[in-house]
Amino acid sequence: MNVFVLSHRCGHCVHRQVALSDDEYEASWRGRVGKPCPVCGVRPEESDLQIILPKDDVQAWKDGLLPWGKANQPHANFAAFKTTSAPETVRGEMAKTLRDRMYGDASRKRKEEYTALSKAFASILGLQFGMEAEKAGDYERAVMWLKSGAENATDPDAAAGCYLYLGLTQQKLGNLAKARDAFRSVLGYSSAPATIRCAAGDQLGNVLKQLGDHAGARKAYQAVFDSRDPDFSAKAALNLGTLEDEAGNHERAKSLWEYAHKHAKRQDSVKGTAAYNLGWYWETHGDPDKARPFYKFAVASNCGEATTRAAGRLRGLPKRRRGLFGRRG
Ligand SMILES: [Zn+2]
Ligand SMILES: [Zn+2]
Repeated sequence: MNVFVLSHRCGHCVHRQVALSDDEYEASWRGRVGKPCPVCGVRPEESDLQIILPKDDVQAWKDGLLPWGKANQPHANFAAFKTTSAPETVRGEMAKTLRDRMYGDASRKRKEEYTALSKAFASILGLQFGMEAEKAGDYERAVMWLKSGAENATDPDAAAGCYLYLGLTQQKLGNLAKARDAFRSVLGYSSAPATIRCAAGDQLGNVLKQLGDHAGARKAYQAVFDSRDPDFSAKAALNLGTLEDEAGNHERAKSLWEYAHKHAKRQDSVKGTAAYNLGWYWETHGDPDKARPFYKFAVASNCGEATTRAAGRLRGLPKRRRGLFGRRG
């Protein structure tokens, strides 16, 4: 069976071999602990190592076609993340490419060979490993995999996905300028799925606003709003409305919030937040009776800060003068 060992410490393939027994399989990764990576020289610890097996080899192993024919599970310690209980597998063309690289070009220098292998693995596993690392809170490692995944991607959608998660991870690290650049990279892939582009546009708007670039933020939100994407346009309208409001354009803000309130999904906190904002609009424009139902909606929608604030505003509203909405309240 072909065994490839990846290091999550540096993101490179650090070893490959054909393992013909359980002992060789064990040794294939144990032997790499503390040894310099052939690409960059960084020494992995045991917990950094991950075994990659081509899928058809795994099947052959399970089918008993390989020499020692035991369908036992590999040692669990190889996994970089405690939740991973099986080695990663690659299939089809990738497996073939890997084998060709292994056997086909003996003259290739070791470093070049491992660099090529590392790029191939990053292109198919960078996004997955990056997302897993991000989920596990290991942001530095996530950045490493996502960058490498994006740079080596052969599929533009995968590259866009890597840049999106790279941006989200950089945000969590507080690297706003790097996050901005990553989100802009996503938007450079004009054929990427709308969901990925809208998610990036939405986050780009947030980051630009935090960086003080309100004109840029407005442009980013506007693009998402214009897409009329069912999952993102309401939130973009909410955010755009807030920017308009801060710029003193209250009527424009109101109509954007109305859009957000109407089009946001039922469980979406955007719906309640837009309701709060509309309540605020009507209260500050002298119509507490129009403000009241919006505040009530925000309270009922149970969406965090807007709910708390709406409850406070509601208590402060003057008593109803007209009974347009019946006797309750
Ligand atoms: Zn390395
Ligand atoms: Zn006004």
